[in-house]
Amino acid sequence: MSPSWVRASAPAKINLHLGVGPVRPDGYHPLATVYQAVGLVDEVTVSPSAKWCVTIAGDERLALSDVPVDGTNIAVRAARLLAERAGVDDALAIRIDKGIPVAGGMAGGSADAAATLVACDALWRLQTPREELVRLASELGSDVPFALVGGTAVGTGRGEVVVPAMVRGDYWWVVVGSSAGLSTPEVYREFDVLAGGLGIDDPGIPDELMEALRSHDLEKLALSLHNDLEPAALRMRPRLSEVLTTGIEETALGALLSGSGPSCLFLCSGPEHAQQVAHGLRAGGFGAVSVARGPVGGAKVERVG
Ligand code: ATP
Repeated sequence: MSPSWVRASAPAKINLHLGVGPVRPDGYHPLATVYQAVGLVDEVTVSPSAKWCVTIAGDERLALSDVPVDGTNIAVRAARLLAERAGVDDALAIRIDKGIPVAGGMAGGSADAAATLVACDALWRLQTPREELVRLASELGSDVPFALVGGTAVGTGRGEVVVPAMVRGDYWWVVVGSSAGLSTPEVYREFDVLAGGLGIDDPGIPDELMEALRSHDLEKLALSLHNDLEPAALRMRPRLSEVLTTGIEETALGALLSGSGPSCLFLCSGPEHAQQVAHGLRAGGFGAVSVARGPVGGAKVERVG
């Protein structure tokens, strides 16, 4: 008998390195990135329904009202893509419990797409081969394959070609979210303006970063953190510089912008240190501050009813 509902979760991503190359003729930028999945998660619950509907729940500070509840929601697009591939004709009620900041540069939408793919696969008892799910994920968005795979991985192409990386131990991060998101395409446009005429090179992955991850050398990792989109996002949202500086003053080992922002990330030496830095940032008046451990696994089914 088919289940009456399935709940799946998927993690937020951070980019320990985000190298961006010159815009391609198809409008995309080539990326060389190191992803890490961290313990901020969205949950997606799917159940059969007479018509398609989406409900969003979660902390209001996560800008939930910016998430569409129509067919443009990436969870609906993911469910429809899998349905089409499998010849399924059922409509779904989709409930998304958000734990990942919206438009925060942490790929919350991509996490929802990945969670929806695994949830629908279980609901419709399809047993879709893993490679096929990853292929569908890459059709939905550049960050969706990584949300399926999780862990720590190198991403190339548009970010959709994902290869797991050798990493030792846990990493503790403080995440400062923002109630107002930044549009990823607008940040890339600002990047193009800043890069204009500079003749930027194709992006690569720095060896020092991979060595730091293999040996769990936190000092070296702190020095290797890098995001090519940071200057563009800081120009669009100058207050983010203050967030980044405050985290370092609060003794974080390293600081960087997450993806296209505006979430800011702070590397800490362990869970107690992360709580201490988080406390300092909250006391400084910064809003949605959370502690997250990485790496964590990718999208997975949590419960079947
Ligand atoms: P990107 O993956 O482009 O870096 P992001 O991580 O900054 O994005 P997301 O939370 O994925 O941000 O949302 C980007 C935009 O996608 C939102 O502003 C929203 O309009 C749209 N969107 C569509 N579906 C969803 C979803 N399920 N959750 C969040 N946003 C969604």
